[in-house]
Amino acid sequence: MSKTRHTDTSALDKIVADARRHQDERAKTYREQALKLYPWICGRCEREFTRANLSELTVHHRNHNHDDNPADGSNWELLCLYCHDNEHQRQLEAQGQAGVTPSSGGGPAAATHNPFAALKGLLDDNNK
Ligand SMILES: [Zn+2]
Ligand SMILES: [Zn+2]
Repeated sequence: MSKTRHTDTSALDKIVADARRHQDERAKTYREQALKLYPWICGRCEREFTRANLSELTVHHRNHNHDDNPADGSNWELLCLYCHDNEHQRQLEAQGQAGVTPSSGGGPAAATHNPFAALKGLLDDNNK
């Protein structure tokens, strides 16, 4: 029994290592493909890149799905590190606002909310 367990662990290690290597290779591949397809210019600030600073030019996935890598490059956009950061920041903020923002006319809804909370507090007091 302990023999099989040992085998399983090393097999799993190998699978994880293979998956990681595969992921690295794929990432390198789509970056190279994107760099071949598009001019080395940031899509936001239009900064131009050369081989010397190419490491600061990154591949952004337009639909934010890193597994979606069509060969025609339609899901890729070349962005410098700063603009890439901004792009993701904006996406996070947009998501946050979507979750918090109430439907239009939130004023009345907020007004009816308070009395209800107070009533609940009174009921809780009576139960003590
Ligand atoms: Zn930029
Ligand atoms: Zn991105």
